[in-house]
Amino acid sequence: MRIGTGYDVHRLEEGHPLVLGGVDIPFERGLAGWSDGDALIHAIIDALLGASGLGDIGIHFPSGDPEYRGISGIVLLRRVREMLDEAGWRIENIDATVIAEQPRLSPYIDQMRRHIGEALGIGEEQVGIKAKTSDGLGFVGRGEGIAAQAVASIYKREANEAI
Ligand code: MG
Repeated sequence: MRIGTGYDVHRLEEGHPLVLGGVDIPFERGLAGWSDGDALIHAIIDALLGASGLGDIGIHFPSGDPEYRGISGIVLLRRVREMLDEAGWRIENIDATVIAEQPRLSPYIDQMRRHIGEALGIGEEQVGIKAKTSDGLGFVGRGEGIAAQAVASIYKREANEAI
């Protein structure tokens, strides 16, 4: 069994959609980035890659590569699941926290857990997501960006276990 951690931040800017955990969230600003800026999924990807010793998100999906311009975090997450499958790893659980002053994310948490669970081939009960504010402090508190952190637990598949 292995554990990995991940962290990500994206700037909140006008003219971008807000996508978190693969869910479109109505808000007047969204997350800027080379990809879709889904900081929650990016943190989960780094946790999975870190646990499996397969590197990090920047190695596999580099910013600046036209292939990944605007790409959905869910699409990247599916690719990471394939990498782990090929390396013989199964996912035990994910636990993550999104830190955002606004908007209120609690109405979207269950949908995020479903989308992430589907992309990873695990049940939504294996995907924990919490939403926190920064109590008005720092860049998150000023509404300049949204941060996310994640932990992933994985284990080696038995030789006779189906993928
Ligand atoms: Mg990112």
